[in-house]
Amino acid sequence: MKAPPWKWFIEYTHPTQAHMHGISKFIYSGRTKYQDVEILEVDFYGRCLILDGKIQSALSDEYIYHETLIHPAMLLQENPGKVLVLGGGEGAVLREILKHPGVEKLVMVDIDREVVELCARYLPEWNDGAYEDPRVQLVFGDAREYVKNSAETWDVVVMDLTEPVDDGPSYLMFTREFFQLLKGKISPGGVLALQAGSFNPRLLECHSAVYNTMGLSFETVRSYYTFIPSFDATWGFIVASQSKDPLSLGAEKVDALIKGRGIQNLRHYDGEAHGGMFALPKDIRVLRDKEKRIIEDNNPLTTF
Ligand code: SAM
Repeated sequence: MKAPPWKWFIEYTHPTQAHMHGISKFIYSGRTKYQDVEILEVDFYGRCLILDGKIQSALSDEYIYHETLIHPAMLLQENPGKVLVLGGGEGAVLREILKHPGVEKLVMVDIDREVVELCARYLPEWNDGAYEDPRVQLVFGDAREYVKNSAETWDVVVMDLTEPVDDGPSYLMFTREFFQLLKGKISPGGVLALQAGSFNPRLLECHSAVYNTMGLSFETVRSYYTFIPSFDATWGFIVASQSKDPLSLGAEKVDALIKGRGIQNLRHYDGEAHGGMFALPKDIRVLRDKEKRIIEDNNPLTTF
């Protein structure tokens, strides 16, 4: 068989594992103050954002990641008036949050203005006009500093950050100290949701350590997951709260809430999908419960 005429983007998930994408078009490549940025069109999944060598989202399936991250937490909170997003780069989390009619104020704090501007320019489908919404306020700066210095409390907080590895810009957002600080900024009955790394059993340390660390600050902490084709991985997320539990939402209740809020255009998430996402396979539960590490400011997570 003749070699295909592709140049390849290779995403490493481990020093001895990688996924290859045939590149159909180079859009942008550069380095900001904080991270390496590439915007490529890959033949199979369409245009995608790559930060520090890792795919953040791709045109053909970004809805899967963003609907999964946002809607369980937003539905669990009956009054999601004030919503804070930490990170959020591409702006797609804003698009999903704004589908909920109760939102009055939505602040997104991303450390990297250049990434946000590149996404707005080259990936417009992701934010889909969210930046023009008068309820949205963009802040450029370190999200931990913002949370520390702000006196506000929030009904829903979403962390859409890059992986908490020790040399990346987001590691101090997944520590015991940070979750303690954040707990005080979430309103009674408020909900926190975040993306929390791969659900591959060989790579579960990151998810498990974040889960353990959050358990020190929040009464209820629930892992959930879905498969993201362009990550070539089942991906983990976490919802946490002092008083709410996503396991209390059955399929009918989720569907009724979606209908009641007039949300019509979800493609991945609904009542049936909710049940599947929160039903963890046995091997994952066993491995996660075996991991005892806590992430601290002075004790970053080093995986491989
Ligand atoms: N979908 C993604 C994934 O798969 O991991 C994450 C979305 S997004 C592109 C991650 C954003 O987090 C980036 O825009 C990055 O600039 C931002 N970020 C990283 N560290 C941050 C920090 N300390 N404060 C605020 N934003 C941060």
